[in-house]
Amino acid sequence: MRGASLSAERLTTAVDESMPLAQALLEEVRSLTADEPGVSREPWGRGEQLALDTLARAAAGLELERRTDPFGNLYLTLPGADRAAPAWLAGSHVDSVPAGGNYDGLAGVVAGVTSLAALRRAGVAPPCDTTVMAIRGEEVSAWYGGQHNGHIGSRAALGLLPPDELDSAIHSRSGRTLRSHMQEGGADPAAVGRGAPYLASARFRGYLELHIEQGPVLEARAIPVGVVSAIRGAMRGRSCRCLGAYTHSGAVPHELRSDAVMATVELVHELDREGSRVRAADGDLAVTVGKLFTDARQHALTKVPGEAEFSLDFRSRDEPTLVAMRSLTERLAREIGERRRVRFDFAPFTLQRPAAMDAAFRERLLAGCRALGIPALEMPSGAGHDAQDFAHAGFRTGMIFVRNSHGSHNPDEAMDIADFALGTRLLAWMLATR
Ligand SMILES: [Zn+2]
Repeated sequence: MRGASLSAERLTTAVDESMPLAQALLEEVRSLTADEPGVSREPWGRGEQLALDTLARAAAGLELERRTDPFGNLYLTLPGADRAAPAWLAGSHVDSVPAGGNYDGLAGVVAGVTSLAALRRAGVAPPCDTTVMAIRGEEVSAWYGGQHNGHIGSRAALGLLPPDELDSAIHSRSGRTLRSHMQEGGADPAAVGRGAPYLASARFRGYLELHIEQGPVLEARAIPVGVVSAIRGAMRGRSCRCLGAYTHSGAVPHELRSDAVMATVELVHELDREGSRVRAADGDLAVTVGKLFTDARQHALTKVPGEAEFSLDFRSRDEPTLVAMRSLTERLAREIGERRRVRFDFAPFTLQRPAAMDAAFRERLLAGCRALGIPALEMPSGAGHDAQDFAHAGFRTGMIFVRNSHGSHNPDEAMDIADFALGTRLLAWMLATR
């Protein structure tokens, strides 16, 4: 069926009539995975599995085809007229951070299922298969320390995950590897990196992801829907250390100290100044030190601190900017270290590359907003998403943001269901049109 024959009005009605399903799914998963005051859906753990089971049951009710890949990601398909034609893939993740919000990730999967329900309701036989992917392990960074780059479920399916990350990602509480937890969760970690990627871009028209906005931009502008232009990448130093020497805070002259805190503060201050310079020159760079602490077993009011630990998180839409920040950090560490008689130790930095969204998809999404009367803003995504991995794997990729208060990764995120309905109309429109 040609998209033109499905009027905007009929599509809007079909989505609106499918909204009770969306609300029921969001509420059921919330109550099943409640961890007051938020929800906890641990990757390859109980909460993530409960969310997937709920979605699979809903898909059975809609007579969608169901399958899982060796990594445990779930695929729900509405068959199209030409089953050999490249398929649409719409998805997001079902896991959450510990005691996180209900909508981060889940909203996108529910929007996909609701879109398929709406297409069925409108009597639309899409030209190609339309598949919703419920992705595991996007939030692995919130549960696992060690060396890894997050977004495990999508990167495994796309063939972008080096198998050794499964062994270098260490669970913060159990101390066991991600490989071991995946196995326990019923997945086959040995399939990571084996053979051809499970998802090959040539078999798909593209990947679409609806996600709540995790910043305040749409709310501040009073616009319900965003069309994402690009996703920022990240250069991260996850466990940085500055090593000096513990000495007496009164007795030791400054020129003989090796003060780890003062050296770290100087480094952080210089990196912050560089961030301001880049932004003043119209560049894109966010600099965050999310962790900064001395050793509580050793520190004291009267001690010159001999050790400081911290994290570095650089974000930018521009990969050379991220690479330059790593070089700058290393250069400053040498200079400051020499002058202040300390040594900086950065475990290897990890790079999550930025990703541009497909230009034609962006235009198409904006055209959809006009056709459906949805006020929308084109904007970059400051946070990382599975969508960037699809873009890196050669998929044409598009993203829809839905307005949300109080950010995310906390129980206070607040998405108006009316805004969600607008985002879902746009998603369904993309999936229904040629
Ligand atoms: Zn998310």
